[in-house]
Amino acid sequence: MPAAASNRSGAVSPGPRTAGDRRPGANPWRIDLRELGRRAGSMQEIDRTAPAPDGWRVELIGVPAGGDVHLRLRLESVMEGVLVTGDLDVPVTGSCARCLEPIEDTLHLDVQELYAYEGSTTEATSEEDEVRRIEGDFLDLAPLARDTVVLNLPLAPVCTEDCAGLCVDCGQRLDDLPADHHHEIVDARWAGLAEKFGTPPTSSPGTPGEIPTTEEN
Ligand SMILES: [Zn+2]
Ligand SMILES: [Zn+2]
Repeated sequence: MPAAASNRSGAVSPGPRTAGDRRPGANPWRIDLRELGRRAGSMQEIDRTAPAPDGWRVELIGVPAGGDVHLRLRLESVMEGVLVTGDLDVPVTGSCARCLEPIEDTLHLDVQELYAYEGSTTEATSEEDEVRRIEGDFLDLAPLARDTVVLNLPLAPVCTEDCAGLCVDCGQRLDDLPADHHHEIVDARWAGLAEKFGTPPTSSPGTPGEIPTTEEN
C-alpha cells in the first residue's frame, strides 16, 4: 500500500506528488520496520510527535485534529511479530458535562500491543480485529493510538472533580457564584403553609420528585 493512501481522510493536504511521498517518515504514524529487523530481541526506541488525525473523539471531548501527540514507544522484535510498549501524551479539548465550561487537558496513556507478522502463527490463528497486523515492512501506530485514546476519553468529562454544575433556576455556573447563591422561589402551593408555620414543609424521605426548597431561609 502506498504511503499516501493512509491520508485518505483528506485532513492532510496531499501536496505535490513527487518523490517526497516515498520519503521515510512522511507519515509519522507509520513505522518502517526494516531498521528493527526480525531478529527476536532486537529493539527500537521511538520518541516523536505526530499530528492527530481527524475523528478521535467521543460526544463531549476529543483530540483536536492536527494536535501534537507525543509517542514514547519501544518496539521489540518477538517471534510472532513486534511488541509495542510505551506511552502517549495526547492533547484533548472539550466541554464540561456539568457546566459546559471549555476543558483543555493532556491524557497520559500506556500502551502495550503485539503486531503480528504476515504469515505468523498468530496471524493465522487470530481474527484481524483481535490482533493488529504488520503490513509488509510497516507497522501503523495510528489505529492503536486511536483505540487507546477513544477508550480512555470520559463520556462525562468535568472541568474539576467537584464541579457543581449550573444553577437550575438561572443557568449560571455555580462555581462562579457566591456559595449562598439561591433564588427566593416559593411555590404558590406552599405559600400559605409557609406563612402559617414559618418554614416550608420538607418532603418525607423517599418521596419521588422531591420539591426543591430553599432551606436557607
Ligand atoms: Zn464544570
Ligand atoms: Zn441561580
